[in-house]
Amino acid sequence: MPTFEEARKIILAGISPLGVERVTLLESLGRVIAEEMIAPWDMPLYDNSAMDGFGVRAPSGTEPAALKITGYIPAGGIAASEVIPGCAVKIMTGAPIPPGCDAVVPVEETEEENGMVRILKPVFRHQHIRFKGEDVAAGDTVIAAGTVMRPPGISMLASFGKVIVPVYRRARVAILSTGDELIELGEPITSGRIINSNALSLAASIKEIGAEPVILGIARDNRESHVEKMVEGLNADALITSAGVSAGDRDLVRECLAELGVRQVFWKVGIKPGGPTAFSMSGGKPVFSLPGNPVSTMITFEELVRPALLKMMGHRKVIRPLVKVTLAEEVRKKPGKVHFLRVRLTMGKGGYLASTSGDQNTGILKTMLQADALVILPADSTSFAAGEEVDAHILNETVAMEEG
Ligand code: AMP
Ligand code: MG
Repeated sequence: MPTFEEARKIILAGISPLGVERVTLLESLGRVIAEEMIAPWDMPLYDNSAMDGFGVRAPSGTEPAALKITGYIPAGGIAASEVIPGCAVKIMTGAPIPPGCDAVVPVEETEEENGMVRILKPVFRHQHIRFKGEDVAAGDTVIAAGTVMRPPGISMLASFGKVIVPVYRRARVAILSTGDELIELGEPITSGRIINSNALSLAASIKEIGAEPVILGIARDNRESHVEKMVEGLNADALITSAGVSAGDRDLVRECLAELGVRQVFWKVGIKPGGPTAFSMSGGKPVFSLPGNPVSTMITFEELVRPALLKMMGHRKVIRPLVKVTLAEEVRKKPGKVHFLRVRLTMGKGGYLASTSGDQNTGILKTMLQADALVILPADSTSFAAGEEVDAHILNETVAMEEG
């Protein structure tokens, strides 16, 4: 049985990035750039003013009390005439620097009167000029392949006129729920039935990382139903099955995958919740068989499936950052497995304080809902004192501030 870290390594080793597609710049948000992006020209393209003010020749010692204003260059204007000693041109932010001008004096440091401008502060050569190519030189790599597109990347590529950009394809991820007890969302509930919520939580988690869920519906607890749906699911880039992976006599997932020639890589991982998780490969396609308990399904997705799907979509950094948090209360566990503890976080002066979000039984869904993070309790340890520092994966992007 692999440990948590081994399982994650084995899974990631089996995954390679999908193909590349071209999308419009804005659609590339959150996607991974697939090719090196090279600057086609210098940025800025021309020397320009960083301030609204006056373009002057920096004084060479004999500073005139006032300069004659000989021109005006608005943003988008043309730097027509030369700036000669004793003269200044009024210039706006972004306007091209005219010949002869080697400094810009901000308007706040001047006084203008009757066509003349008085300079109130010392002027230094090159002040408030943005020089051609000082940000990026033509031919430089502006975005490396493997970069996740965020607003600054969008800004950079927009500045360089990129309308269409190459990104790794989104993963199409099939979701197969199994179980005779399941009904679909929207169907009337009766005793003994439960709603197929895993399909929805998995689809939501898949959407959240920019992948595309394909909900296959429910396979009933017989071979034919499992096999039929699995065949359909293997058309996607990855298949996730929910439930039917434990040791029950109606747990048919592994058996049916084997029947389809899908190679089981491991079954069972040293984690809690999520122990019965299986990982298999169908050719190059990963198949994740997650336990059906909704909390286990979500935690195993988070810790084992999510990194793999990110890798498929070209991400190079696929693990959430481990954050140090301080336990607010004592925690005990059995040795042997990594435990994922659902906690709420508050942000205090000393960093994050973690308190359990409630009953840690895998059957308790509301503790998952209330969790800001999963604390990762190492396999070997058994007790953790209040005030002890532990590692956590933050699930929510924002947390509460400590009161007071
Ligand atoms: P199993 O692995 O089939 O024994 O299922 C474990 C538990 O998860 C049972 O309580 C199931 O009712 C529950 N479960 C299974 N599939 C789903 C699902 N699709 N949505 C919500 N709960 C489920
Ligand atoms: Mg079942």
